[in-house]
Amino acid sequence: MQSPHSYMKKGIQFVRDNPQLLYTLFLLIVIPVAFVMTSEQFLGIARAQNDKVEQSRVGLLHDAFAAFLPEQFVPVVIDQRIADIAKNNQTITGFSVIEELEGATSSTYQVIASLNKQEVPLGAYVPDPVTMTLMRFALANPEQSLTAEFMKSAVRQWKTARMVPHPTEGIPRAYIVTDVSMSESDAVLSGNIRSAYISLVLIILLIIVLLGRQARIVDYATLYKRLEEVDKMKDDFVSMAAHELRSPLTTIRGYADLLKTVQHLSPKGEELLGHIDNSALDLNTLITDILDVSRLQEGRMSFNIERHAPVASLREVVEAFRVPAESKGLSITLTTPELPDILVDKVRFHQVLVNLVGNAVKYTPKGSITVTAKELPGTDLCEFRVSDTGLGISAEAQQKLFSKFFRVKTKETSTITGTGLGLWITAEIVRQMHGVISVESIEGKGSDFIVRFPKAEK
Ligand code: ADP
Repeated sequence: MQSPHSYMKKGIQFVRDNPQLLYTLFLLIVIPVAFVMTSEQFLGIARAQNDKVEQSRVGLLHDAFAAFLPEQFVPVVIDQRIADIAKNNQTITGFSVIEELEGATSSTYQVIASLNKQEVPLGAYVPDPVTMTLMRFALANPEQSLTAEFMKSAVRQWKTARMVPHPTEGIPRAYIVTDVSMSESDAVLSGNIRSAYISLVLIILLIIVLLGRQARIVDYATLYKRLEEVDKMKDDFVSMAAHELRSPLTTIRGYADLLKTVQHLSPKGEELLGHIDNSALDLNTLITDILDVSRLQEGRMSFNIERHAPVASLREVVEAFRVPAESKGLSITLTTPELPDILVDKVRFHQVLVNLVGNAVKYTPKGSITVTAKELPGTDLCEFRVSDTGLGISAEAQQKLFSKFFRVKTKETSTITGTGLGLWITAEIVRQMHGVISVESIEGKGSDFIVRFPKAEK
């Protein structure tokens, strides 16, 4: 059984491994709690402020009313005044003037005027306990309005009382007792609370949506990292396999070359040897391409860029392809004026020409291949163009032509073997030698592959 200590350690480790959990907790707990606390505090302050204003308003009303009270109480006049006050102050639901009757042993009261006349008994009046207590406090605190708060039908109510002293004799002349309903101001405040909590719910929903996205982003990031690792493993494996294939292949080619020197080989034997030789050559090209791809991807291909006279390379490549071209019935020509030196790695420049002329021979069933070169006027570039009258490439395929493993899929190309790596390698090499590669082609008519390299200074 595991101890609580080890559970705790595991829990801490889990949070450490998944730091996004802390972020989640922070967003889901801390932000809403902070929001609720701030809203409550704000509403508390607003309510206290509101009560203070209401209290001083009622106090002022009482003062003005006390000053107005005529020497002789004329109930009709006082009733009218009370009605006017109630009309202008919606929060006031009750307003009475109560007189303490003289000469009594215990306190007896009588309502002189009231907003709710019908609710007041005629003759002696016995105030309810709240009113009674307030009147006692008012007696002890002359000229002050005192307030008691209580709940009635789930609404906050105030009862406020003020003593009006006799002008000369210093004894209480009457009490003003007012009922105030806080329902309206409380409704405004609870409306605010409601909007605040609706906002809170919306914020929480938003946080949940954001967290959902965040979780997906974390998943994608993990997946991407894993894919990168797998991709790297695949590249390492392919490059290692290509290296390992190279030595047995060299042996096969060596023995095939040796066999060619053997005298008296039967015609059938020569034919079979030809097959071995061609397949070994194809395999060698494939292995070279794979190794070039991995070198280029990992930046391990070195370029020794220096001044180079391109015409020699052009002649060499065109001559190398003369036999394969002519054996297919294709003419191959090189047209070049005197050219200045260019800045390239000569081995890689040769490789670019081999790839482009090789493709021209491969994808041209009949017609001709022309290699031309010229200086581009007004620029510091030399242009090399390999034109053929072959299959051509559709505009759509031209868009993806320099991508890795891309091959045009048509009836004509289906019988031609290849990997789709040659043009990607060529384009990368051109780019790394600060050159530019492009294609101009019409499907069914032929293609021009154009490369441009910087001229060397004279
Ligand atoms: P591969 O020749 O091994 O398929 P490449 O990268 O050299 O690979 O070429 C990619 C594709 O571009 C070829 O499969 C072929 O369809 C098309 N292509 C290349 N050169 C030519 C050309 N001169 N004429 C017509 N199509 C070509």
